[in-house]
Amino acid sequence: MYSHRIESLSESMTIAISTLARELQDKGKDVISLSAGEPDFETPQAIKDEAIKAIEDGFTKYTSVAGIPELLKAIQAKLARDNHLEYETKEILVSNGAKHSLFNIFQAIVEEGDEVIIPSPYWVTYPEVVTYCGGKNIFIETCDASGFKMSAAQLKAALTPKTKVLVLTTPSNPTGSVYSRQELEAIAEVLKGTNVWVVSDEMYEKLVYGVEFTSVASISEDMLRRTITVNGLSKSAAMTGWRMGYLATKDKKLIKLMDNLQSQCTSNICSITQKASIPGLDGRIDPEVEKMRQEFERRRNFAVDALNAIKGLSVIKPEGAFYLFVNTKALELDSMQFCKDLLEEEGVAVVPGIGFGMEGYFRLSFATSMEKIEEGIKRIARFCEKRERA
Ligand code: PMP
Repeated sequence: MYSHRIESLSESMTIAISTLARELQDKGKDVISLSAGEPDFETPQAIKDEAIKAIEDGFTKYTSVAGIPELLKAIQAKLARDNHLEYETKEILVSNGAKHSLFNIFQAIVEEGDEVIIPSPYWVTYPEVVTYCGGKNIFIETCDASGFKMSAAQLKAALTPKTKVLVLTTPSNPTGSVYSRQELEAIAEVLKGTNVWVVSDEMYEKLVYGVEFTSVASISEDMLRRTITVNGLSKSAAMTGWRMGYLATKDKKLIKLMDNLQSQCTSNICSITQKASIPGLDGRIDPEVEKMRQEFERRRNFAVDALNAIKGLSVIKPEGAFYLFVNTKALELDSMQFCKDLLEEEGVAVVPGIGFGMEGYFRLSFATSMEKIEEGIKRIARFCEKRERA
């Protein structure tokens, strides 16, 4: 009755946990959510002002599918300035969030049976969309001992003649790990001479702590050619609800094909969001972004120490994003059970590791106030203590 494609998609674990949390809240339980995948800050005023102006100016009609010229130029300039990447405006496509950019990409390049390499733990959407497109997910397991990073040797061992794509997420959701330039160079070396595309998800680029962010396409001419760079304003400009994401590739034919696809499903993204996104790209909001980054760093430092002080838990200090991927193996609990029990007994929502392809962990988001983080971790400590004694 329904297509097998659509039946192959599953609900994201993050949403499943938020639904359960909401149900408990509706019943009057005091729930602290440490599961958010979005910044808790307001969208900067300069962005709001441009949106209001766009409405008042009547900029409310269809635009070209890929985006208005001034937005494409702002993205082009941002990629050159921040990432040392030279793209033409014809090599950029703006979509309804980076999620939509990724959907366009996988639809455009993955054929039935193609292998897509995804380091694990991974962000939930990649394998779902790969499966939806008929591709085969090849997971490369990482762990806290290796900083949740895939080595060049692991990549080499996973390559086959069917490998079509490597997905790289740096900084990572759910682990916060950030690949150094040297690590990316080693990966680039392994890919030399292959026909493998790289999808580089750089959504958390602006949220790094004490390290420098490197775009994988900036490593070499070869990497620039094979990489599709994905980014957006959801995380860096606190614009999750505005739906703005983009991709860039040197392959103009690929852009055209994805433009065709997008023209048949959503067309352009919201015209108002397009105008409002420009201050999010041209440096105008840099001071606000830096303030958010510093606050995230302060919370990360607190949360890492507080969690490591709890018997049965351990967590590495991530260099980016706003997540901690906490090891619970000493407690020997199934990750889904851990999260459900924690939510029901202590009213704290975190996301089970299994949702990101890895048992024995949970993901905690520190994109919420320090007070909530403190109270949430206090309750986690109480929960673990009970489990330790059991
Ligand atoms: N990539 C990663 C790694 C993410 O964590 C997210 C959001 N959770 C996205 C892409 C999608 O972002 P959006 O669609 O809101 O732009």
